[in-house]
Amino acid sequence: MPPTTPYVLIAVSNTTRAAIFRDAAAECLRLDVAVVRDGDAAMDTITSRGVPALLIVDLSLPRVDGFTVVRRLRRLASETPTRVIAVSAHEALRAAAGELSTALGISGVLALDADSARLQELIFAGLDPTPDLAEAPSPTPDPAASLIDPEEVVERASVEVRRRFRVPASIGYLRVGEEEGLTVHVALHDGEQLVAVKEAVDMALLRQVAESQEPLVVPSVEGHPLFARMIGTGGSSVRGFAAVPIASSREFVRASLCVLDTQQLTLTAADIDALAASARQAGAELDRATTVLAERTPSVFEMPDDIEALQQLAATDPLTGVANRRGGEKHIANEISRARREKRPLSCILIDIDRFKAVNDTFGHQAGDQLLRDVSGLLRRTVRAYDILVRWGGEEFLLVLPGVDLKLARTLADRLRSAVEALDTHGLGRVTVSAGAAEFENDYDFSSTLRTADRRLYQAKAAGRNCVV
Ligand code: GH3
Ligand code: MG
Ligand code: MG
Repeated sequence: MPPTTPYVLIAVSNTTRAAIFRDAAAECLRLDVAVVRDGDAAMDTITSRGVPALLIVDLSLPRVDGFTVVRRLRRLASETPTRVIAVSAHEALRAAAGELSTALGISGVLALDADSARLQELIFAGLDPTPDLAEAPSPTPDPAASLIDPEEVVERASVEVRRRFRVPASIGYLRVGEEEGLTVHVALHDGEQLVAVKEAVDMALLRQVAESQEPLVVPSVEGHPLFARMIGTGGSSVRGFAAVPIASSREFVRASLCVLDTQQLTLTAADIDALAASARQAGAELDRATTVLAERTPSVFEMPDDIEALQQLAATDPLTGVANRRGGEKHIANEISRARREKRPLSCILIDIDRFKAVNDTFGHQAGDQLLRDVSGLLRRTVRAYDILVRWGGEEFLLVLPGVDLKLARTLADRLRSAVEALDTHGLGRVTVSAGAAEFENDYDFSSTLRTADRRLYQAKAAGRNCVV
């Protein structure tokens, strides 16, 4: 990498927070400051300008998350290593960054809403290490281990088997702790035929292979019970399927690989052996890639506290930081039993952003994402601490309000509606919401109350939007 003029890179998608960090950093360091809003743009900046002197990175960036940005940065050779300060609105992500701080060279972790004084403290602390830090035992991480990303191991293996076995598509499955995901590779010329691959092959199938550690070969899926549903829907042109486990010795890691064909799979037993051998090799790599997680942060996967943190993460919508449907349902159930017990009123409001699709279409998906964050932030700030706010779907939020009857719910909804209308939308112009309110009846039945709120929301839309029914 060529020598570069030192600069500060701030990768934070919340523009207000980014501006505060920018000003704080500029005041401390008198360096040029670049601000980007997603992980892709961060990597582009690093590619074009070289590694920054200081990176302030949000851990849950769009496109490429903050952990991945730091991992990739660490893979680039540089004479002056970048100091990294990780920020996040999520306690669980900050805890994870703390655990990985040695492995990834993260010198400070900060809440997204921390004030500039706190950031400046961290910046100065790094420039002039306190005795405490200086005396800390010097870490001797296995460089190979800390530099490989488990996802990349699976992705590479999946690309490799697709090429090697000359099949049009392959899929890799990886679970680390409770987080699981698929990586799909489709050869371009067959891309159209296999567009439905991801939908067609149920994650459950690959999970099963990963958990059982047993290969699953279905040379022709026609008439096969496991694939009946897939063929039945007619959405896929997959005909052959073979999956093998990627064996990892770590309890918390499970992975598998599969190859798919548009024709009956003609792989021989020797081919399947070779496929299994590729997967074994990937397993060894995966073990190395997860050394850091296993040795330095066993707690993340074993300690009850951290399982709670992971569950908390799973209950939170990563984009807006408010509860997702799964996370909200538990709280709502609690409030319903309390209201029923105490015979107190309980209401809910469904709020939907008006013409949100037009925001995406006109300003781009990222602007849409930011608007979702701005609106959810406003809702959070405006309601009481014990009201429940849930991102119920795409651009739809559900509020559950203990002690509130229908009349008050409508008043509150209208207050929220006009607050959104007055919201600074960072250049998107006026944004409005429509809302439907409903009060729980004597039986405190959630689904019928929600249906009423939904019907009223629909009426509000029909009545011209920007109103409450
Ligand atoms: P209406 O006033 O009737 O509610 O119209 P609308 O455009 O808001 O509603 P519609 O349901 O047609 O479009 C919702 C759009 O929201 C479509 C979908 O692509 C987008 N969307 C859903 N989730 C997200 C997200 O997380 N980020 C972004 N940027 N867009 C999203
Ligand atoms: Mg909408
Ligand atoms: Mg909607």
